[in-house]
Amino acid sequence: MSREEIAIIGGGPAGLMAAEVLAEVGKRVTVYEAMPTFGRKFLLAGKSGLNITHSEDFAQFHTRFGIASERLQPALDSFTPAEVRAWAADLGTETFVGSSGRVFPTAMKASPLLRAWLRRLEAQGVRLMTRHRWIGFEGDRFFFETPNGRLSVEPDAALLALGGASWPRLGSDASWVPWLQAKGIEISPFRPANCGFDVAWSNLFRERFAGAPLKSVATTSPAGSFQGEFVVSGHGIEGSLVYAHSAALRDAVGKNGEAALVVDLAPGRSEERLARDLARQSSKASFANRLRKGASVDGVKAALLRELDPDASQLPPPQLARLIKALPIPLLRPRPIEEAISSAGGIAWREIDDRFMLKRMPGLFAAGEMLDWEAPTGGYLLTACFATGRAAARGVMEWLAAR
Ligand SMILES: Cc1cc2nc3c(=O)[nH]c(=O)nc-3n(C[C@H](O)[C@H](O)[C@H](O)COP(=O)(O)OP(=O)(O)OC[C@H]3O[C@@H](n4cnc5c(N)ncnc54)[C@H](O)[C@@H]3O)c2cc1C
Repeated sequence: MSREEIAIIGGGPAGLMAAEVLAEVGKRVTVYEAMPTFGRKFLLAGKSGLNITHSEDFAQFHTRFGIASERLQPALDSFTPAEVRAWAADLGTETFVGSSGRVFPTAMKASPLLRAWLRRLEAQGVRLMTRHRWIGFEGDRFFFETPNGRLSVEPDAALLALGGASWPRLGSDASWVPWLQAKGIEISPFRPANCGFDVAWSNLFRERFAGAPLKSVATTSPAGSFQGEFVVSGHGIEGSLVYAHSAALRDAVGKNGEAALVVDLAPGRSEERLARDLARQSSKASFANRLRKGASVDGVKAALLRELDPDASQLPPPQLARLIKALPIPLLRPRPIEEAISSAGGIAWREIDDRFMLKRMPGLFAAGEMLDWEAPTGGYLLTACFATGRAAARGVMEWLAAR
């Protein structure tokens, strides 16, 4: 009997991981990637250090995927953060746990890992095809645009790992959505995740403070309260502390047309203590001096206070303390999906069985960010892409064996 042919479409972390699992058991695997090189988003993630997974308690880790946690759990259980680290180490990339519990390669980049990974896949016999853009179905055949013209293939099984909809210029442009919809498959609309927000800054504030970091602040939204830093941008606000709230704030803006991120500019001091410290300042001192000496609030923090409440200087100490502890930044809208770290939305879970196979299209599997889940930054995204790639590959094996 000839070896079964498996087509994996999309050469990011999910697709490459699926290829690895299938090649390990001797399947004939071809990875078709539209771009001239593999894993472009993975490499971009490497620019900020490649937060590959997270070391927190695994029970806590499971909860990071919101309503998709339950569907993702079996895949995550089969490729735990410890296994992610062991897998990277096996490819020559040692990792370390950062102060926040996030896990990074010691080299703080993705390129050595990706190079070693592609080398190993080739050695395992995986055919790695770049510049092969999937352009849709015709019957059971998959069509590709290639430098040598159109190619059509009819594999024994196929696995889609086409990514979400953020940063489309890196390859994941969601062009596949209408082709699956035409097959009756429900796709939840893509929305930005881990994204910044637009704020109606005055021109003066924008010109002076775009790019300025707000350090050691606490922030609150319906997602909870988190401490850290974020950045004032020309459009609004950006940065990891904002991303931690972005799903909740995006949904609140979508529902109510508005939302606010509440900032505590002096997280080290209670409101009562702050009110006392502010009350001790001379009434003859300038507002800037009262803020600096009484609350250690200066620079961009003081400017933000004035920007959002032009009458702040008139407030008596107790009210001023309250404002410093809970300053709402009104948000207009999330930044466009093209700029987001990741996307929410994708193939609806009800379309996928426990093997990650599309129920309406037996023999076609899906993995990675193109499925309808989202997670905060922290290494959760890559871990779930790896884990679903592996789970879908095992699904392919099971399905082929049962045919
Ligand atoms: C700036 C940035 C920083 C990030 N940092 C981190 C981080 O530190 N930690 C973390 O966990 N996550 C991070 N992420 C998110 C993470 O990179 C993604 O979640 C992950 O790459 C998704 O993997 P995937 O395989 O599902 O899709 P992708 O990586 O998007 O890969 C999909 C592949 O499919 C190809 N493709 C698409 N359409 C077609 C087609 N029609 N035919 C053929 N091929 C096609 C694409 O070209 C692409 O190569 C970051 C993302 C960004 C943008």
